[in-house]
Amino acid sequence: MTSQNPVFIPGPTNIPEILRKAVDMPTIDHRSPVFGKILHPALEGVKKVLKTTEGQVFVFPSTGTGGWETAISNTLSPGDKILATRNGMFSHRWIDMCQRHGLDVEVVTQEWGEGVPADRFEEILTADKAHQIKAVLATHNETATGVKSDIAAVRRALDAAGHPALLFVDGVSSIGSMDFRMDEWGVDIAITGSQKGFMLPPGLAIIGFSPKAMAAVETAKLPRTFFDIRDMAKGYAANGFPYTPPVGLLNGLNLSTQMLLEEGLENVFARHHRIAEGVRKAVSAWGLQLCATRPELYSDSVSAIRVPEGFDANKVVSHALESYGVAFGTGLGDVAGKVFRIGHLGSLTDVMALSGIATAEMVMADLGLPVTLGSGVAAAQEHYRKSATAIEKAA
Ligand SMILES: *Cc1c(COP(=O)(O)O)cnc(C)c1O
Repeated sequence: MTSQNPVFIPGPTNIPEILRKAVDMPTIDHRSPVFGKILHPALEGVKKVLKTTEGQVFVFPSTGTGGWETAISNTLSPGDKILATRNGMFSHRWIDMCQRHGLDVEVVTQEWGEGVPADRFEEILTADKAHQIKAVLATHNETATGVKSDIAAVRRALDAAGHPALLFVDGVSSIGSMDFRMDEWGVDIAITGSQKGFMLPPGLAIIGFSPKAMAAVETAKLPRTFFDIRDMAKGYAANGFPYTPPVGLLNGLNLSTQMLLEEGLENVFARHHRIAEGVRKAVSAWGLQLCATRPELYSDSVSAIRVPEGFDANKVVSHALESYGVAFGTGLGDVAGKVFRIGHLGSLTDVMALSGIATAEMVMADLGLPVTLGSGVAAAQEHYRKSATAIEKAA
């Protein structure tokens, strides 16, 4: 596989050269004040990206999965009841982690391709008069199916039920790419990682805690050591970590948040939306369907594309890699073999997206699928040039 081609997997994403350089650092003494000059601006930058002024941010040497564990182990106790929906591989794995931690998960099963059922959540929360449910889990962007859920609606469901449960949101493949508002949506814990919207190598779990979530830390009884945010907070107060910090990645995070904020979060979201729309126009030009069932569920960071019945979608992914050196995402879990995924988040331009669309077209034609070469590319080109004109007019 050539490193000249961009990747079209939904994380890890393409790393801009400037961030690769920022991550590549000589060793510094992480117990010296120099480290604080990297750490604190990075944490402040993340707060802005999460759109929180009230929350506290913690960064661990880990991945998004470690972020899930940070959320539950710091705030919950064995046997606590939580409410979650299973609508894809990532929500499935988070539920599995909760169960392995001895939590009692009420699972609302959804078709893969559907979102978090806020109305069903409201019914369940309203019926829970004794407030036994301690936390509600929501995956903002289900990366396995390309489905975006409405987190504001989940907050409204909690409020309508007058329910005090904490709201935990997995924003691993949305934060930094799609609109996310921690304070406004009343998100108690927001979770992400370094290798998706932040355009960095994997290696960081990035988590925001609301004041309410911070208060729950004092009474939570699940065991925690590595992910104990009280130790981490003490470390930060002394310009350090409770253990050796991943200095290069934190230096990258500092720069990455600056880049996102300089582009402007709303511009970053608009860019992701425009690129995603181009991909979706291509998909319909190919006569194919997305796994996401309705336009309001369409993700701007990843598209899961259904292949014709009886065809193995994994072939698209393996042929793209073998013949063209391009990486697409495979189908996971229930949709394995039924979909392939085009990741379109992070450091990406219209022009890069066109190369991915063109490659997918060649691959499908090679494999005998009824796709006309150029059809998807033309549909995306038309979208990108129209929207480029619109941008010029607005300027
Ligand atoms: C990538 C991802 C994760 C976490 O994956 P890690 O490999 O642990 O970083 C969790 N949730 C979603 C929605 C994701 O896309």
